Amino acid sequence: HSPLADLPEVESDSLLQLITLCAADPRPEKIDVGVGVFRDGAGNTPILKVIKRAEEILRETQETKAYLGMQGDKRYAELLRPILLGPLADDARIAGLQTPGGCGALRLGFELLALAIPSARVHVGTPTWPNHPPIIRAVGLEVAEYPYYERGQGSIRFDAMVDALSAANAGDVALLHGCCHNPTGADLDEDQWREVARIVAKRGLIPFVDIAYQGFGRGLDEDAFGVRLMLETCDEVVIAQSCDKNFSVYRDRVGSLFVKTGSESATALAMKHVSMRAREMWSMPPDHGAACVRIILDDAALKADWLVELTAMRDRINAVRQRLAAADPRLAFIGRQWGMFSMLPLSREQVLKLREDHAIYMADSGRFNVVGLSDDQIDRFTAAVVEALN
Ligand code: PMP
Repeated sequence: HSPLADLPEVESDSLLQLITLCAADPRPEKIDVGVGVFRDGAGNTPILKVIKRAEEILRETQETKAYLGMQGDKRYAELLRPILLGPLADDARIAGLQTPGGCGALRLGFELLALAIPSARVHVGTPTWPNHPPIIRAVGLEVAEYPYYERGQGSIRFDAMVDALSAANAGDVALLHGCCHNPTGADLDEDQWREVARIVAKRGLIPFVDIAYQGFGRGLDEDAFGVRLMLETCDEVVIAQSCDKNFSVYRDRVGSLFVKTGSESATALAMKHVSMRAREMWSMPPDHGAACVRIILDDAALKADWLVELTAMRDRINAVRQRLAAADPRLAFIGRQWGMFSMLPLSREQVLKLREDHAIYMADSGRFNVVGLSDDQIDRFTAAVVEALN
């Protein structure tokens, strides 16, 4: 008997499989709209100039690489407060700490909830980011689904969402995407956020907001509307945040977890638990990326440089969206959505056919990265998609 050799097969992540398939395709005209990273008009994911500058400063000024502790870079988490929390930045009932990316923040946030409410069900929208359910189940919490998006209509199933959340039990968790919904691009508008906040508060649900793309939609403050509204409305809120996209530091794993409770002392205790869970999992988060973000946010000139580069990324996303939307009335919905992703109403067979006939690589669900397209690929992409829709 050899336990390690007798492990069951792993069903490999279909998005990771897609990367392998695309890499193996010899056709030079291939289009990769599967991977979820920002690309510029030339099809590259460059390191931001401001990050390069911060790395230089870090190299010149860093004097030690001794341990930082379970909370990571405390100044980094402090500097994120005005960006994420806005006018609520000084609320002492909200505390945050550095995590290895948004994934680390999600895991840690759910660890905390599993500890506090082991019987909680976590309500996730259908569809949601495919990594949400496994992370929730990994901490032993149950996943429940609420309807979120109607792919054929390109619209949010708001009434059905409201009905489902209204039937959830007190102490359950509602997972919400802060902005730039992955995989659909369909974000709640301000009135819809208000309605969800009202229901969540009335039912005694705990909102867990995942915000991984702040600044990629309408703007930094606009994209934080939902996060801030939940914090204003509810005593207990969990927020998983990521800087990996808006600073373009994906592989450096830069995120944070913020927790709000009804009192400063309860928040302090929750953060002690959070630190202990972090200690068990990764002990402390990687320093490099968060140190660069800290250097940028701590310097008005560098921060201004970052905002310019972030705005350029956002403008490109929205410009590509408008180009796609203008190509055909059936793609108009793409122009009303936000962030990098959208979902085409294509069957799995149609998605596979686009792959075979046109070397277009998108997820089986029809999700594609709008800025996966370089400028010179857009027309060919829309022509192929419109043909598939006919
Ligand atoms: N939440 C959502 C909705 C995401 O799309 C992602 C990244 N794909 C994450 C969290 C995690 O981001 P990170 O790379 O920072 O772990």
